[in-house]
Amino acid sequence: MTALSLNNLSKTYDNGLQALKEINLTVQDGDFFALLGPNGAGKSTTIGLITSLVTKTAGQIQVFDADLDEDPELAKSYIGLVPQEFNFNGFEQVKHILLTQAGYYGLAANEAEPRADALLKQLGLWEKRFTPSRSLSGGMKRRLMIARALVHQPKLLILDEPTAGVDIELRRSMWTFLRDINRQGTTIILTTHYLEEAENLCRNIAIIDKGEIVENTDMKSLLNRL
Ligand code: ADP
Ligand code: ADP
Repeated sequence: MTALSLNNLSKTYDNGLQALKEINLTVQDGDFFALLGPNGAGKSTTIGLITSLVTKTAGQIQVFDADLDEDPELAKSYIGLVPQEFNFNGFEQVKHILLTQAGYYGLAANEAEPRADALLKQLGLWEKRFTPSRSLSGGMKRRLMIARALVHQPKLLILDEPTAGVDIELRRSMWTFLRDINRQGTTIILTTHYLEEAENLCRNIAIIDKGEIVENTDMKSLLNRL
């Protein structure tokens, strides 16, 4: 089954900047996929389009069996997004943030509670569950963003530059965690401008530059050619 399919997807911003030029991309269910490219290549725009944060200019987006235009709510329910920037209400407590998020997706309290608790434990945030999020360390904020993205058990987890500005120790523990949830069946797509990250984690890769996919292959073939 296909987890994500982008067909002739284009985005031109209001100022006339053509950020994506008819890109085509397919990610299979269960894959760990990297979208690699330099700053300004169009990675965040692509993520924004898939997650309905940016409106497309043309093309189609399919998430599992849901077309984003025809069945937007179903498509959204399949996706968990870890954005680049910390974007919480800093006064809200850690566990409450997860429960609020679960509420957006219509999870009942008796489902949301155990789900939130399990994620807090897995991500090393249990001790901090009643702490306002603004008091967390940088690394803990990152992990909270991952927990929040997973609370409704999405089939597809999308991370936008997950380890930008993260120290090596936390980066490694995030990699281990992401590999685990991929093994458990969650499809993962991450954007990065950092080949080592893609190399360490991903089976398949697309390279984007100036709004165009310039390479789309499996990681091994790419590394053999470098
Ligand atoms: P990346 O995530 O790969 O760094 P982006 O998708 O953020 O790339 O940006 C792609 C291009 O679109 C860049 O030239 C960027 O300056 C431009 N861009 C991004 N957002 C906007 C916007 N809201 N309005 C106009 N141009 C934008
Ligand atoms: P800081 O941001 O202050 O450097 P972190 O929040 O990154 O600190 O890490 C705090 C502690 O939690 C560290 O000892 C780190 O090894 C540990 N840690 C990091 N990631 C995880 C994880 N996924 N699960 C459990 N513990 C973790």
